[in-house]
Amino acid sequence: MDLNLSPEETRFRDELRAWLETHTPTDWEHRRDASIEQHFAFLRSWQKTLYDGGWAGISWPREHGGRGASLMQQVIFWQEMARASAPPMANVIGLGMVGPTIIAFGTEAQKARFLPGILSADEIWCQGFSEPNAGSDLAGLQSDGRLDGDHFIVNGQKVWTSYGWAADWCELVVRTDPTVPKHKGLTVMLVDMKSPGVEVRPLRQMTGESEFTEVFFRDVRVPVANVVGKVNQGWDVSIGTLMHERGTLGAGMQVTYQRNIERLIELARTIERGGRPAAEDPVIRQKLAQCYAEVQIMRANQMRAFSRISNSGVPGPEGSIQKIFWSELNQRLQQIAQELLGPYGQLEASDPHAIDHGAWSYGYLRARGNTIEAGTSEIQRNIIGHFVLGLPRSY
Ligand SMILES: Cc1cc2nc3c(=O)[nH]c(=O)nc-3n(C[C@H](O)[C@H](O)[C@H](O)COP(=O)(O)OP(=O)(O)OC[C@H]3O[C@@H](n4cnc5c(N)ncnc54)[C@H](O)[C@@H]3O)c2cc1C
Repeated sequence: MDLNLSPEETRFRDELRAWLETHTPTDWEHRRDASIEQHFAFLRSWQKTLYDGGWAGISWPREHGGRGASLMQQVIFWQEMARASAPPMANVIGLGMVGPTIIAFGTEAQKARFLPGILSADEIWCQGFSEPNAGSDLAGLQSDGRLDGDHFIVNGQKVWTSYGWAADWCELVVRTDPTVPKHKGLTVMLVDMKSPGVEVRPLRQMTGESEFTEVFFRDVRVPVANVVGKVNQGWDVSIGTLMHERGTLGAGMQVTYQRNIERLIELARTIERGGRPAAEDPVIRQKLAQCYAEVQIMRANQMRAFSRISNSGVPGPEGSIQKIFWSELNQRLQQIAQELLGPYGQLEASDPHAIDHGAWSYGYLRARGNTIEAGTSEIQRNIIGHFVLGLPRSY
């Protein structure tokens, strides 16, 4: 891989850099939003700004509203977002998972109807996969879809549905044939969250916020036209979505981690340990340097994942390597932050003495979920063992 920029890539970078300089909100990390909903409204308007500038979904094909960005342009995009300290986008699930799934498996009518709203953040998406008795073993899910004329009648419960409270639409997977082996009777459908019979209940997390929800479906009518792919072939569609989740979600994370490690290095110069700046403490220095290097490794892994997607059109099981790496790295990074900040690291946003408005106490607690969401580390290791290393199946 040649990492030097071609004249065209340099033009792309300069155009993006100039755009970000004039459009990126400043000091947004220190916003004191009253609620997660208010913060979300801010991220939504930021995505709209990116969309209006032609910068949302840059890896999507041009005919679907993207830029058809090359591998290098995607790398440049995330580097420049990090450089500008730009906020993340609101419609993470729509842009990174549902949109690519509709592009790969959807009908022309679905593409025309749903893709523009995903890019502009006019319609926010959630992912209704996990159930109380089906997480790692997704194919064991029990939510039920019965055909009734030109609609499916859906009954069941989903759980851990991120952004369920904000979502206009849900990519839902249900069992449409209970008589066949479990992987063969599933169907993926696009469900309007405002349909009668959909009930969303927030779940409170240890961070104090309710990022995810339980969603109940009672006799919810979903048009057959909203089925993605073929009826009873939803397993392949779901795996496509999960591969995108694992392969591409890390891209935005890398921006955050780069900013966080740089901020920790800056803090280490002012926070004192034993009467000297912590940055002079050899143990702290070693840990920060190790973490900085790992964030660069994450970037290299990311490029490998992008490379795979640009060559084959779909992410591969290598996405599991990336998933384990970013989730465990964030836990290490947040641990170092706690060691550096001491008791200050535990102060929440409401405390006037909190450093960076409580971002470190929140970050430490939120990072615990990283090794569970998008497939646990154990499951990712099983996938790598079998599909990447060719070891016998362990489950
Ligand atoms: C922050 C967060 C956001 C989430 N957002 C969403 C969302 O938007 N939509 C959605 O559908 N889901 C979402 N999830 C759910 C997530 O996908 C599941 O929690 C995850 O797949 C694990 O499933 P489970 O919780 O049922 O645990 P289980 O599957 O019950 O696993 C329990 C434990 O057993 C281990 N285990 C299970 N099977 C095996 C095996 N075969 N080999 C080795 N170990 C095994 C697991 O690693 C884990 O440690 C989210 C979760 C979190 C934490």
